Amino acid sequence: MTAQETVEHKYVYDFAEGNRDLKDLLGGKGANLAEMTHLGLPVPPGFTITTEACKAYLASGEQPAGLADQIAAHLAALEQGMGRRLGDPDDPLLVSVRSGAKFSMPGMMETVLNVGLNDRSVVGLAAQANGNHRFAWDSYRRLIQMFGKTVCEVPGEEFEHAIDEAKRAKGSTDDLDLDADDLRALVDTYKKIFSKHTGREFPQDPREQLDLAIRAVFDSWNAERAVIYRRQERIPADLGTAVNVVAMVFGNLGPDSGTGVAFTRDPASGAQGIYGDYLANAQGEDVVAGIRNTVPLQELERINKPAYDELLDYMARLERHYKDLCDIEFTIERGKLWMLQTRVGKRTAAAAFVIAGQLVDEGLIDLDEALHRVNGAQLAQLMFPRFQLDHGFEPVATGIGASPGAAVGKVVFTSARAVELAGQGEDVILVRRETNPDDLNGMIASKGILTSRGGKTSHAAVVARGMGKTCVSGADALDIDVPKRRITVAGRTVTEGEVVSIDGTTGKVYLGQVPVTPSEVVQYFEGELDPEATDGALVQAVHRIMSYADARRRLAVRTNADTGADAARARRFGAEGIGLCRTEHMFLGDRRELVERLILAREAPEREAALAALLPLQRADFVEIFRAMDGQPVTVRLIDPPLHEFLPPLEQLAVDVAVAQERGEDVAKEEALLAAVRRMHEENPMLGLRGVRLGLVIPGLFAMQVRAITEAAVECTRQGINACPEIMVPLVGAVQELETVRAEAEKIIAEVAGGSDVEVLIGTMIEVPRAALTAGQIAEAAEFFSFGTNDLTQMGWGFSRDDVEGAFFWRYLELGIFGISPFESIDADGIGRLVRIAAEEGRAARPGLKLGVCGEHGGDPDSVHFFHAVGLDYVSCSPFRVPVARLEAGRAAVVTAGSDSR
Ligand code: PEP
Ligand code: MG
Repeated sequence: MTAQETVEHKYVYDFAEGNRDLKDLLGGKGANLAEMTHLGLPVPPGFTITTEACKAYLASGEQPAGLADQIAAHLAALEQGMGRRLGDPDDPLLVSVRSGAKFSMPGMMETVLNVGLNDRSVVGLAAQANGNHRFAWDSYRRLIQMFGKTVCEVPGEEFEHAIDEAKRAKGSTDDLDLDADDLRALVDTYKKIFSKHTGREFPQDPREQLDLAIRAVFDSWNAERAVIYRRQERIPADLGTAVNVVAMVFGNLGPDSGTGVAFTRDPASGAQGIYGDYLANAQGEDVVAGIRNTVPLQELERINKPAYDELLDYMARLERHYKDLCDIEFTIERGKLWMLQTRVGKRTAAAAFVIAGQLVDEGLIDLDEALHRVNGAQLAQLMFPRFQLDHGFEPVATGIGASPGAAVGKVVFTSARAVELAGQGEDVILVRRETNPDDLNGMIASKGILTSRGGKTSHAAVVARGMGKTCVSGADALDIDVPKRRITVAGRTVTEGEVVSIDGTTGKVYLGQVPVTPSEVVQYFEGELDPEATDGALVQAVHRIMSYADARRRLAVRTNADTGADAARARRFGAEGIGLCRTEHMFLGDRRELVERLILAREAPEREAALAALLPLQRADFVEIFRAMDGQPVTVRLIDPPLHEFLPPLEQLAVDVAVAQERGEDVAKEEALLAAVRRMHEENPMLGLRGVRLGLVIPGLFAMQVRAITEAAVECTRQGINACPEIMVPLVGAVQELETVRAEAEKIIAEVAGGSDVEVLIGTMIEVPRAALTAGQIAEAAEFFSFGTNDLTQMGWGFSRDDVEGAFFWRYLELGIFGISPFESIDADGIGRLVRIAAEEGRAARPGLKLGVCGEHGGDPDSVHFFHAVGLDYVSCSPFRVPVARLEAGRAAVVTAGSDSR
């Protein structure tokens, strides 16, 4: 290794060298520790090993060349700064080894504390702690336990069992009752457990401990729970984690020591104030793990006023500096405050909106930045219902409202059972004393999470908030017996499968099914709540941010609706037109018989009679929709789906006919139907006779629809309604198809609307890859394009849209072939490229060509950003997603550097 190479591959940064902008390299924790160091806050000294080192290690299985030397150099500097050597028998320096990825992954990766302790330095540590032997031996047993479990995969229960035994022998249930001798004996037991499982002694060399702990943190990036969490949170799999090596400070040195977590505002509601938990005489992870019940942070004022005041001062400084809600981990060692971590804190969806509004009022951010601080997924969450106000149920317990929402479901006690019942379509509530990272799958499967222990910062609370799941934590009136699968509360026993309702805002727990009520935000969108009149901080913040998004966005937002009621609701939600009115449903229900007659007609008169009967019905459909969308464009798509959808299923019909024939019944009609169904049968109906192909095969079908649309528009105009119809031809792959339909349609429009003010545009869907690739030609015959990204994805990937998601997408997601289903979020590289080509070539051939999207992707946040970037004119989505699309279109239009709303 030459000096040159060492310079090129800098794998280790002192806290004084980094800053908050280096999250990619130093991870969130490392970058923010560096930032706090620069701000002059009391951060214990340390250094960060970069994510680059982690990636190099994970790729090769070896520490990259130069890393060991760089760690040695930084360790030497740390030792010098602290005036102590790692593991020195007389006066040891101890360090913590902590993971820290770019995006927070609470509890998913590993941490090892007290590295540097061994049989000799434990004595030195006791001397350092003024002869506190109990503390020194307790620290040593924690190291063996954490190191054993994390680094050497020793089953954690063995250690837990041993400490429980020690407590039992003492007649106590509290760790604090174990004295120095008990803990020394426990260390011996722990060492035996360690060597039994690993075949070696617990390593006494401090540097070996450090190296092994660093490797274990690197490896934990690929631990199963971390992989699941990343998939759920859409965090890329290739980022790697940084590792922070930090001089230990101790919160467990006695009653004047402690550890805690603080938020600069309430992460649940966004309300201003001081929120957090404090635990005296405890070490780091005890608070987050929810193992012991904490006291509210305000209590610290009584316990240690100078430290409390100092903390408040740092909280205010951090919030001004980061211009956002910060969360903080701190430790007090013998009265002195140390800042162990800060970051821009996770928050609920409601808090995100409220805080963004407050920060604008406080002059810390502008509205552009506020728009970046919220996102469509959060808005969607706020549109979920809540419990009815006057439901009359009495709570049986009240815990902490850790993650809002109203969840009702059957009680389950294990993650596996949650997954199993949810797989059968049941709503479940996962009930645990406290959760740990192994419960992740169960948490994902559940409607809500209920625990009897832990505060707002417990694992359950943090993870649930991140997932947007309802969670009540620390409901300590619940006596939860997991092995017996029952809860005892208020003299009642609740067993697995019984229904409970939990309110993640108030923390209340109810037995039975509490009725739910719609969200305030939906009421506001519906126009039922006037933001000027309400004193609700949330509705006001949503109103303000949505209004700003509307002012900023370039994309129009339309809706996919095919009834007047849906159209009217979408309009209240802010839709500016209909981007897709699917006419298929208008052929179902009691009209099915007419359609059957149409399909089965052998002669023109029969067919024409069926079409003539359908015409007035269709006209009435369109009048209703034009009326609801008065003055706004309505894109009506001519009928698309395969014909077999209107006919009885082949197998069933064949059986019925055979049985009837057997019985000697008159089945002439059924036989004719069966013959027709056989004739129509297709192996791949999605690629068969549908869309424009159908219109070209069944004479008069499209013509009837065009006539109904135009007549409806003329009729509306006569009634003073401004109808703006756009006729859209589905599944076009060649310009000739469109030209043929267009020629016939233009004649009908001229005949029906000639002389009136009605103007009818004719355009096409772009949903067959060939259409995208010949968009220049197609644009000659189209006044608009609307991208049907559902079919474009189906045909571009060759994925049958009705089959593949259930069949094998899970495996593709597991393998990372894609991070999310391409039916949910547009595949920008492939299908998106088709969209881009078609948009560019279409506009080149016909400047001013109107471009929109009406596939499901129109309401997907990431896809909206893509469509903005490609330069479409509008997105169209289902009514409920209209507000989300408005918000995301506004966000897409506002480019703010350096903000990350994840
Ligand atoms: C599409 O294919 O994206 C589309 C909107 O049409 P449908 O979903 O009705 O096939
Ligand atoms: Mg389609």
